[in-house]
Amino acid sequence: MSDPIRIDSHVHIYQSAEEGIAAKEGYEIWEYGKQDEVAFCDVPGTVDDLVESMKKSSMDKVVIVNLYVADEQRAIYRKALPPNLGQGELEKAEGDIEARVREELFAFNRWACDVARDHAGIFPYVCADVLLFSAEENAAHIRDLAENEGARGVKLHGPAERFFMGDERLWPTYSVCRELGLPVIGHSGPDLEGKGFAEPRAFGAVLKAFPEIPIVLAHMGGATWQQAQEIAETYDNAFFDCCEIIEWTRSENGPTERQLAQLIRDIGANRVMMGSDFPWYDLDQTVDRVMSLPVLSMEEKEGIVGANADRILGL
Ligand SMILES: [Zn+2]
Repeated sequence: MSDPIRIDSHVHIYQSAEEGIAAKEGYEIWEYGKQDEVAFCDVPGTVDDLVESMKKSSMDKVVIVNLYVADEQRAIYRKALPPNLGQGELEKAEGDIEARVREELFAFNRWACDVARDHAGIFPYVCADVLLFSAEENAAHIRDLAENEGARGVKLHGPAERFFMGDERLWPTYSVCRELGLPVIGHSGPDLEGKGFAEPRAFGAVLKAFPEIPIVLAHMGGATWQQAQEIAETYDNAFFDCCEIIEWTRSENGPTERQLAQLIRDIGANRVMMGSDFPWYDLDQTVDRVMSLPVLSMEEKEGIVGANADRILGL
Protein backbone atom coordinates (compact mmCIF):
# COMPACT_ATOMS: atom_id res chain seq x y z
CA MET A 1 0.00 0.00 0.00
CA SER A 2 1.36 3.42 -0.88
CA ASP A 3 1.76 6.06 1.81
CA PRO A 4 -1.08 8.59 2.16
CA ILE A 5 -0.51 11.85 0.27
CA ARG A 6 1.24 14.65 2.17
CA ILE A 7 0.46 18.29 1.48
CA ASP A 8 1.68 21.38 3.31
CA SER A 9 -0.96 24.03 2.59
CA HIS A 10 0.92 27.00 4.06
CA VAL A 11 4.57 27.84 3.38
CA HIS A 12 6.54 31.00 2.64
CA ILE A 13 9.67 31.37 0.52
CA TYR A 14 12.17 34.18 0.14
CA GLN A 15 14.38 35.29 -2.73
CA SER A 16 17.52 35.25 -0.61
CA ALA A 17 18.66 34.04 2.81
CA GLU A 18 19.02 37.68 3.93
CA GLU A 19 15.43 38.41 2.98
CA GLY A 20 14.15 35.33 4.80
CA ILE A 21 16.10 36.13 7.95
CA ALA A 22 14.87 39.75 7.91
CA ALA A 23 11.27 38.61 7.45
CA LYS A 24 11.48 36.14 10.33
CA GLU A 25 13.15 38.67 12.62
CA GLY A 26 10.64 41.38 11.69
CA TYR A 27 7.54 39.25 12.31
CA GLU A 28 6.78 39.16 16.01
CA ILE A 29 4.49 36.35 17.16
CA TRP A 30 2.95 38.03 20.19
CA GLU A 31 -0.65 36.87 20.25
CA TYR A 32 -0.27 33.55 22.06
CA GLY A 33 1.58 34.98 25.05
CA LYS A 34 4.29 33.00 26.76
CA GLN A 35 5.45 29.58 25.61
CA ASP A 36 9.11 28.71 26.04
CA GLU A 37 9.12 25.37 24.26
CA VAL A 38 8.16 26.40 20.73
CA ALA A 39 10.54 24.73 18.27
CA PHE A 40 11.33 27.12 15.46
CA CYS A 41 12.85 26.12 12.13
CA ASP A 42 16.38 27.43 11.66
CA VAL A 43 16.63 27.87 7.87
CA PRO A 44 15.96 31.22 6.17
CA GLY A 45 13.41 29.85 3.71
CA THR A 46 14.99 30.07 0.26
CA VAL A 47 13.63 27.90 -2.56
CA ASP A 48 16.50 25.45 -2.02
CA ASP A 49 15.65 25.28 1.69
CA LEU A 50 12.04 24.45 0.84
CA VAL A 51 12.93 21.80 -1.74
CA GLU A 52 15.28 20.18 0.78
CA SER A 53 12.59 20.22 3.50
CA MET A 54 10.04 18.72 1.11
CA LYS A 55 12.41 15.84 0.40
CA LYS A 56 13.22 15.30 4.04
CA SER A 57 9.56 15.18 5.02
CA SER A 58 8.32 13.24 1.93
CA MET A 59 5.96 16.14 1.12
CA ASP A 60 4.19 15.62 -2.21
CA LYS A 61 2.86 19.15 -2.61
CA VAL A 62 3.24 22.53 -0.94
CA VAL A 63 1.25 25.75 -1.30
CA ILE A 64 3.22 29.00 -1.24
CA VAL A 65 1.22 31.70 0.55
CA ASN A 66 3.78 34.49 0.43
CA LEU A 67 3.32 37.73 2.27
CA TYR A 68 4.51 41.13 1.10
CA VAL A 69 4.32 43.81 3.79
CA ALA A 70 4.39 47.21 2.10
CA ASP A 71 4.85 49.12 5.38
CA GLU A 72 8.00 47.16 6.22
CA GLN A 73 9.49 47.83 2.80
CA ARG A 74 8.61 51.53 2.98
CA ALA A 75 10.35 51.77 6.36
CA ILE A 76 13.51 50.18 4.94
CA TYR A 77 13.64 52.60 2.01
CA ARG A 78 12.82 55.65 4.15
CA LYS A 79 15.64 54.78 6.50
CA ALA A 80 18.05 54.72 3.58
CA LEU A 81 17.15 58.26 2.43
CA PRO A 82 19.85 60.91 2.86
CA PRO A 83 19.20 63.23 5.84
CA ASN A 84 18.16 66.89 5.47
CA LEU A 85 16.15 66.53 2.27
CA GLY A 86 14.15 69.60 1.37
CA GLN A 87 10.37 69.46 1.20
CA GLY A 88 10.30 69.02 -2.60
CA GLU A 89 13.01 66.34 -2.54
CA LEU A 90 11.23 64.50 0.24
CA GLU A 91 7.97 64.44 -1.68
CA LYS A 92 9.73 63.11 -4.76
CA ALA A 93 11.52 60.45 -2.68
CA GLU A 94 8.19 59.38 -1.13
CA GLY A 95 6.67 59.08 -4.58
CA ASP A 96 9.61 56.96 -5.76
CA ILE A 97 9.29 54.69 -2.72
CA GLU A 98 5.58 54.21 -3.39
CA ALA A 99 6.22 53.30 -7.02
CA ARG A 100 8.98 50.90 -5.98
CA VAL A 101 6.81 49.16 -3.37
CA ARG A 102 3.98 48.73 -5.87
CA GLU A 103 6.30 47.27 -8.46
CA GLU A 104 7.90 44.99 -5.86
CA LEU A 105 4.60 43.37 -4.90
CA PHE A 106 3.91 42.60 -8.57
CA ALA A 107 7.43 41.21 -9.00
CA PHE A 108 7.22 39.17 -5.78
CA ASN A 109 3.99 37.55 -6.98
CA ARG A 110 5.45 36.81 -10.42
CA TRP A 111 8.54 35.31 -8.85
CA ALA A 112 6.44 32.87 -6.78
CA CYS A 113 4.73 31.77 -10.00
CA ASP A 114 8.12 31.34 -11.72
CA VAL A 115 9.37 29.16 -8.87
CA ALA A 116 6.26 26.99 -9.09
CA ARG A 117 6.70 26.53 -12.84
CA ASP A 118 10.24 25.28 -12.25
CA HIS A 119 9.38 22.89 -9.42
CA ALA A 120 6.87 20.06 -9.51
CA GLY A 121 4.62 19.96 -6.46
CA ILE A 122 4.84 23.68 -5.65
CA PHE A 123 1.59 25.68 -6.02
CA PRO A 124 1.63 29.50 -5.85
CA TYR A 125 -0.90 31.75 -4.13
CA VAL A 126 -0.42 35.47 -4.74
CA CYS A 127 -1.18 38.56 -2.68
CA ALA A 128 -3.46 41.52 -3.17
CA ASP A 129 -3.24 44.70 -1.10
CA VAL A 130 -6.14 47.14 -0.95
CA LEU A 131 -4.08 50.01 0.45
CA LEU A 132 -1.42 49.74 -2.25
CA PHE A 133 -3.67 49.32 -5.28
CA SER A 134 -7.17 50.27 -6.29
CA ALA A 135 -9.87 47.58 -6.12
CA GLU A 136 -9.75 47.25 -9.92
CA GLU A 137 -5.92 47.11 -10.06
CA ASN A 138 -5.87 44.25 -7.54
CA ALA A 139 -8.50 42.32 -9.46
CA ALA A 140 -6.71 42.84 -12.78
CA HIS A 141 -3.38 41.77 -11.31
CA ILE A 142 -4.83 38.58 -9.80
CA ARG A 143 -6.58 37.78 -13.07
CA ASP A 144 -3.36 38.23 -15.03
CA LEU A 145 -1.38 36.00 -12.64
CA ALA A 146 -4.01 33.26 -12.67
CA GLU A 147 -4.61 33.30 -16.42
CA ASN A 148 -1.02 33.76 -17.56
CA GLU A 149 1.40 32.84 -14.77
CA GLY A 150 -0.15 29.83 -13.08
CA ALA A 151 -1.30 31.40 -9.79
CA ARG A 152 -3.68 29.00 -8.00
CA GLY A 153 -5.20 31.18 -5.29
CA VAL A 154 -5.02 34.43 -3.34
CA LYS A 155 -3.31 35.14 -0.01
CA LEU A 156 -4.38 38.03 2.23
CA HIS A 157 -2.99 39.23 5.55
CA GLY A 158 -5.29 41.80 7.17
CA PRO A 159 -3.17 42.75 10.21
CA ALA A 160 0.10 43.16 8.26
CA GLU A 161 -1.54 44.97 5.36
CA ARG A 162 -3.99 46.80 7.67
CA PHE A 163 -7.34 46.02 6.10
CA PHE A 164 -10.41 44.03 7.14
CA MET A 165 -11.07 40.70 5.49
CA GLY A 166 -14.57 41.95 4.68
CA ASP A 167 -13.27 45.19 3.11
CA GLU A 168 -15.47 45.70 0.07
CA ARG A 169 -12.52 47.03 -1.90
CA LEU A 170 -11.66 43.32 -2.15
CA TRP A 171 -14.97 42.46 -3.81
CA PRO A 172 -13.64 42.77 -7.40
CA THR A 173 -10.73 40.48 -6.45
CA TYR A 174 -13.13 37.97 -4.89
CA SER A 175 -15.27 38.13 -8.03
CA VAL A 176 -12.22 37.12 -10.09
CA CYS A 177 -11.59 34.27 -7.62
CA ARG A 178 -15.18 33.06 -8.01
CA GLU A 179 -14.99 33.25 -11.80
CA LEU A 180 -11.62 31.49 -12.08
CA GLY A 181 -12.10 28.98 -9.24
CA LEU A 182 -9.32 30.39 -7.05
CA PRO A 183 -9.50 29.67 -3.31
CA VAL A 184 -8.56 32.44 -0.87
CA ILE A 185 -6.43 32.03 2.23
CA GLY A 186 -6.41 34.77 4.84
CA HIS A 187 -4.30 35.07 7.94
CA SER A 188 -6.66 34.86 10.89
CA GLY A 189 -6.00 36.07 14.41
CA PRO A 190 -6.00 39.22 16.55
CA ASP A 191 -4.07 42.37 15.65
CA LEU A 192 -2.00 44.68 17.84
CA GLU A 193 -4.35 47.59 17.18
CA GLY A 194 -7.33 45.58 18.48
CA LYS A 195 -9.35 46.35 15.37
CA GLY A 196 -10.25 42.76 14.51
CA PHE A 197 -8.92 42.97 10.93
CA ALA A 198 -8.66 39.20 10.61
CA GLU A 199 -10.35 37.62 13.60
CA PRO A 200 -12.57 34.76 12.40
CA ARG A 201 -15.70 36.93 12.69
CA ALA A 202 -14.17 39.44 10.25
CA PHE A 203 -14.41 36.72 7.56
CA GLY A 204 -18.20 36.52 7.90
CA ALA A 205 -19.06 39.13 5.26
CA VAL A 206 -16.92 37.62 2.52
CA LEU A 207 -17.92 34.05 3.39
CA LYS A 208 -21.55 35.09 3.07
CA ALA A 209 -21.16 37.18 -0.11
CA PHE A 210 -19.06 34.57 -1.95
CA PRO A 211 -20.35 31.14 -0.89
CA GLU A 212 -18.77 29.54 -4.00
CA ILE A 213 -15.21 30.42 -2.94
CA PRO A 214 -13.41 28.11 -0.50
CA ILE A 215 -11.96 30.54 2.04
CA VAL A 216 -9.26 29.29 4.37
CA LEU A 217 -8.83 30.83 7.81
CA ALA A 218 -5.13 30.29 8.44
CA HIS A 219 -4.06 29.33 11.97
CA MET A 220 -7.71 28.46 12.87
CA GLY A 221 -8.06 31.93 14.32
CA GLY A 222 -4.73 31.96 16.19
CA ALA A 223 -5.25 33.45 19.65
CA THR A 224 -8.88 34.18 18.68
CA TRP A 225 -9.47 30.45 18.07
CA GLN A 226 -12.63 30.50 20.20
CA GLN A 227 -14.43 32.20 17.27
CA ALA A 228 -13.51 29.48 14.75
CA GLN A 229 -16.29 27.01 15.45
CA GLU A 230 -19.04 29.60 15.16
CA ILE A 231 -17.73 30.58 11.71
CA ALA A 232 -17.45 26.95 10.64
CA GLU A 233 -21.03 26.28 11.73
CA THR A 234 -22.40 29.34 9.92
CA TYR A 235 -20.53 29.09 6.61
CA ASP A 236 -19.99 25.89 4.64
CA ASN A 237 -17.25 27.51 2.55
CA ALA A 238 -15.04 28.21 5.59
CA PHE A 239 -11.97 25.99 5.82
CA PHE A 240 -8.98 26.09 8.14
CA ASP A 241 -5.28 25.38 8.36
CA CYS A 242 -3.72 24.53 11.69
CA CYS A 243 -0.29 26.06 11.16
CA GLU A 244 1.36 28.06 13.91
CA ILE A 245 -1.41 27.37 16.44
CA ILE A 246 -0.32 23.73 16.54
CA GLU A 247 3.13 24.85 17.69
CA TRP A 248 1.70 27.22 20.31
CA THR A 249 -0.40 24.79 22.31
CA ARG A 250 0.24 25.17 26.03
CA SER A 251 0.80 28.92 25.59
CA GLU A 252 -1.15 31.50 27.61
CA ASN A 253 -3.68 32.25 24.88
CA GLY A 254 -3.46 29.15 22.68
CA PRO A 255 -5.49 25.96 23.16
CA THR A 256 -4.11 22.85 24.82
CA GLU A 257 -3.47 19.94 22.48
CA ARG A 258 -6.72 18.36 23.61
CA GLN A 259 -8.68 21.60 23.05
CA LEU A 260 -7.13 22.00 19.59
CA ALA A 261 -7.94 18.42 18.63
CA GLN A 262 -11.50 18.80 19.96
CA LEU A 263 -11.91 22.05 17.98
CA ILE A 264 -10.78 20.25 14.82
CA ARG A 265 -13.25 17.46 15.52
CA ASP A 266 -16.08 19.96 16.23
CA ILE A 267 -15.36 21.96 13.05
CA GLY A 268 -15.10 18.73 11.07
CA ALA A 269 -11.61 17.25 10.61
CA ASN A 270 -12.19 17.09 6.84
CA ARG A 271 -12.28 20.92 6.76
CA VAL A 272 -8.84 21.33 8.34
CA MET A 273 -5.47 21.18 6.59
CA MET A 274 -1.94 20.86 7.82
CA GLY A 275 0.38 23.81 7.27
CA SER A 276 3.88 24.39 8.60
CA ASP A 277 4.26 28.15 8.08
CA PHE A 278 7.77 27.24 6.91
CA PRO A 279 10.36 28.73 7.40
CA TRP A 280 8.99 29.54 10.85
CA TYR A 281 8.43 25.83 11.61
CA ASP A 282 9.67 22.58 10.05
CA LEU A 283 7.53 20.52 7.70
CA ASP A 284 8.34 17.12 9.21
CA GLN A 285 7.88 18.35 12.75
CA THR A 286 4.46 19.77 11.88
CA VAL A 287 3.40 16.40 10.48
CA ASP A 288 4.53 14.79 13.74
CA ARG A 289 2.54 17.36 15.73
CA VAL A 290 -0.65 16.54 13.79
CA MET A 291 -0.10 12.79 14.06
CA SER A 292 0.39 13.03 17.82
CA LEU A 293 -2.82 14.98 18.53
CA PRO A 294 -5.23 13.23 20.91
CA VAL A 295 -8.97 12.73 20.23
CA LEU A 296 -8.68 12.38 16.42
CA SER A 297 -8.66 9.07 14.54
CA MET A 298 -5.79 7.98 12.31
CA GLU A 299 -8.03 8.49 9.28
CA GLU A 300 -8.84 12.05 10.32
CA LYS A 301 -5.17 12.84 10.88
CA GLU A 302 -4.16 11.45 7.50
CA GLY A 303 -6.78 13.66 5.88
CA ILE A 304 -5.40 16.73 7.65
CA VAL A 305 -1.87 15.87 6.55
CA GLY A 306 -2.78 15.69 2.86
CA ALA A 307 -6.02 14.50 1.31
CA ASN A 308 -8.11 17.41 2.64
CA ALA A 309 -5.91 20.02 0.94
CA ASP A 310 -6.05 18.12 -2.33
CA ARG A 311 -9.85 18.23 -2.20
CA ILE A 312 -10.43 21.71 -0.71
CA LEU A 313 -7.83 23.56 -2.78
CA GLY A 314 -8.27 21.48 -5.92
CA LEU A 315 -4.56 20.72 -6.27
ZN1 LIG B 1 2.08 32.27 7.11
